[in-house]
Amino acid sequence: MTTAGVPTFQNFIGGEWVNSLSGKTFIDRNPAHEDQIIGYFQQSGTEDIDRAIAAAKTALPAWRATPPPERGEIILRAALLLEQRREELSKLLTQEMGKPLKEARGDLQTAIDFGKYVAAEGRRAEGETVPSALRDKMCLTVREPMGVVGIITPWNFPLAIPAWKTFPALMAGNTVILKPASDTPLLSLKLVEILAEAGIPSGVINLVTGPGSTLGDALTGDPRVSMISLTGSTEVGKHIAAICAKDLRRVTLELGGKNAVIVLDDANLDDAAAAIAWAGFGTTGQRCTATSRVIVHKNVVDALNERLVALAKSQKIGDGLDPVIDMGPLVNRTRVAAVDEYIGVGKNEGARLLVGGRPARGGELDNGSFFEPTVFTDVTPNMRIAREEIFGPVLSVLPVASYDEAIEVANSVEYGLSCAIFTENMRNVFHAMRDIQSGLIYVNAGTTGAEPHLPFGGMKMSGNGHRELGATAVDEWSEVKTVFVTYPKR
Ligand code: NAP
Ligand code: MG
Repeated sequence: MTTAGVPTFQNFIGGEWVNSLSGKTFIDRNPAHEDQIIGYFQQSGTEDIDRAIAAAKTALPAWRATPPPERGEIILRAALLLEQRREELSKLLTQEMGKPLKEARGDLQTAIDFGKYVAAEGRRAEGETVPSALRDKMCLTVREPMGVVGIITPWNFPLAIPAWKTFPALMAGNTVILKPASDTPLLSLKLVEILAEAGIPSGVINLVTGPGSTLGDALTGDPRVSMISLTGSTEVGKHIAAICAKDLRRVTLELGGKNAVIVLDDANLDDAAAAIAWAGFGTTGQRCTATSRVIVHKNVVDALNERLVALAKSQKIGDGLDPVIDMGPLVNRTRVAAVDEYIGVGKNEGARLLVGGRPARGGELDNGSFFEPTVFTDVTPNMRIAREEIFGPVLSVLPVASYDEAIEVANSVEYGLSCAIFTENMRNVFHAMRDIQSGLIYVNAGTTGAEPHLPFGGMKMSGNGHRELGATAVDEWSEVKTVFVTYPKR
């Protein structure tokens, strides 16, 4: 194990880098080389969350009184610092999380682009002025911050997601406690470091690392915290929503998916296969919008499968810092075991394994959490591999006989995050835009690829109705106040 020179990272509370009160730490490893330690991070307890909430509460009055354009200046400086340090941070992201460097750069770029976009919202924090039904009266709306907000993030977009929550939360005038995923605390810490360098006042952003299972309840259950935002699993989302429901505090959830690509028999199969491979195997299948189901017309299923198998076999697996690599590791050993279990489930359910289906081994791969790109075919809609989120490089191909059946199967799962259709028929395109139940729809493209200036989020169990990014991103983090002014002539 390489421990010499391994850094220890601290929490950021009230503008100071501090150890957890217990002094305990945990280890963050590189999933491509498990003996490589990224760093030791504070294994915080509920008492550290308590300190962070107190600091955020103290900082709130001054921050909410800061003019929005001034808040925007700080966010813009942070985005520009991220841009300056893009290469260095992308490498750290690959080492911490495993995704190939070109994808890590994309993670950074989303944060940078959205930072610039949100920064300008400081000069656009507009309300409405609306005519009254009565004489000598004026009506208007203004936006106010929620107060102290808690942000809990996952490991699959270690910088993009913390940034796309934190920037609009700060823009709206809230003070923040950020609790990053324990698999990837470093990039959140870097974001906080950069916000501090950009001039964020003490206590406005606070970072507490440690186990979500204990810190989550402390943060979510505290009445001083006005709002919680989580991106993570549906299971944790339901748990948090139940806690916030007790005293009706706002909670915004971005959760799991079981995203499908529909391929009709008039589709361009080369385009479809390439898009499915990218959306299914990219980030080792660990994007919330990853393609997990392929719903394909039976007339073209063999031709599509042949292409998918060839693309699966062509994926170069290994350390994402090597530029030839297409697919990095899963995020940890536990995920390897979980994906492997689904392979057994698929086989037992009678699905036919076409390629992959086991951890990738041999040489350097033995030191990391690698898994082979996998394709199952002859999958039916009631099988678990057709319904449950696997979060690995596993495609389930479901043959169907018509457009109508394709839509029925696509909509038959409990999730509704992202869905795509490949067809050359204009009518089918417009019908699909109407018929598919999901927050994101792609036509002749895979299920992945958010753009920061457009809303992002899911229907059904993929969330609770909120949208991140886009023009309403800041609204999600604020309250509307409606003001009625009467000025009768005396
Ligand atoms: P997770 O286990 O739900 O963890 C997400 C975050 O919640 C982590 O920071 C985790 O902390 C924390 N957490 C764990 N237990 C908690 C609890 N009881 N109370 C409060 N917080 C708790 O999910 P994950 O495995 O990191 O991420 C994968 C999931 O995220 C997938 O289901 C994926 O679909 C979803 N996802 C959704 C989107 C979207 O926008 N819809 C985007 C990305 C990912 P620890 O790390 O310390 O456990
Ligand atoms: Mg790690």
